Amino acid sequence: MAAQENGRDGIVDLRSDTVTLPTAAMLERMQRAPLGDDGREGDPTVRALEERGAALIGKEAALFVPSGTMGNLLAMLAHAERGADVFADRGAHLLNSELGSVVTIAGLAPRPMPGRRGAMDEAALADAIRASSRPGLIAMETTHNGAGGTVLPLPHMMRIHALGQSNGIPVHLDGARLFNASVALGVPAARIAEHADSVMVCLSKGLSAPVGSLLCGSAAFVARARALRKLVGGTMRQSGVVAAAGLVALETMIERLAEDHAAARRLAAALSWLDPALADRDQVQTNILRVDVSASGREAAAWAEGVKRHGILVQASGPLQLRLVTHRHIDEAAVDRTIAAFAALGR
Ligand SMILES: *Cc1c(COP(=O)(O)O)cnc(C)c1O
Repeated sequence: MAAQENGRDGIVDLRSDTVTLPTAAMLERMQRAPLGDDGREGDPTVRALEERGAALIGKEAALFVPSGTMGNLLAMLAHAERGADVFADRGAHLLNSELGSVVTIAGLAPRPMPGRRGAMDEAALADAIRASSRPGLIAMETTHNGAGGTVLPLPHMMRIHALGQSNGIPVHLDGARLFNASVALGVPAARIAEHADSVMVCLSKGLSAPVGSLLCGSAAFVARARALRKLVGGTMRQSGVVAAAGLVALETMIERLAEDHAAARRLAAALSWLDPALADRDQVQTNILRVDVSASGREAAAWAEGVKRHGILVQASGPLQLRLVTHRHIDEAAVDRTIAAFAALGR
């Protein structure tokens, strides 16, 4: 199999950073990875990935899981008793985009909190905890997907963690794009992760691994999550084949996320130059850009259809909003083509 360093020919796919293909180095590492049965004595490559991930995130242990959704689910199951309340920003991925597993599988009561740019209102959260008869878990998200790739301020995270600790409530961090936050803040990922008891990170988004996420936390927490992973059918066998790509992701793909952030800023600047109502360049903190088409007289779906005819794929994230996500396959030429397609349609 040839590595496709530039994505699928001719198509500029801005729907998500999950579309990134494995690098040549990943495919090569996958071929020579030492393997074992991860449901029995363990797979050496998975173990190496879990150790490296735990060290990078600054936690005692890590668990390799097939998806971020499973990582968040296992965190909820491992932290909280059925029937307990889970507090999260109302736009949280774990409340809105995981098919209600918070209720149907974890058996928790969602307590959506008001917030700003992905950060929960701290006073509202404190009030909600006081009013709760069964507080079970607080969940934060950085970067915040629904809010447009925003980075939670570290002092905010510190205060939320302290609030959890003073009330005996564990704090989970949905860090699907934690490394984007780390690069944007210019601090190591562990400096962010220290403000949560458990952290989920995705290897399969901007880091370009084909499959997989890590759930990190204390040794006792990860041991519980490991047992629960079997319960939900997430225990894999020679999973070192995919973990090998995850190792390359952690070793070589973090710093380059800055290029994705620069591409998103360039895209936002050009779109706001076309029409200031379309994009706000000051809102772009990482690799996600929200485009507001409400002033254009056309719906988001019509814009998505229109740019698709130019070979540009974008996601409508509401009737009047598009979501554009930059990643390794969005180079300068792809950014230029995207701007040209929006300019042609805007006329
Ligand atoms: C993508 C994402 C997830 C889920 O990850 P999958 O691997 O797609 O299941 C969870 N949280 C956030 C914030 C995400 O962006």
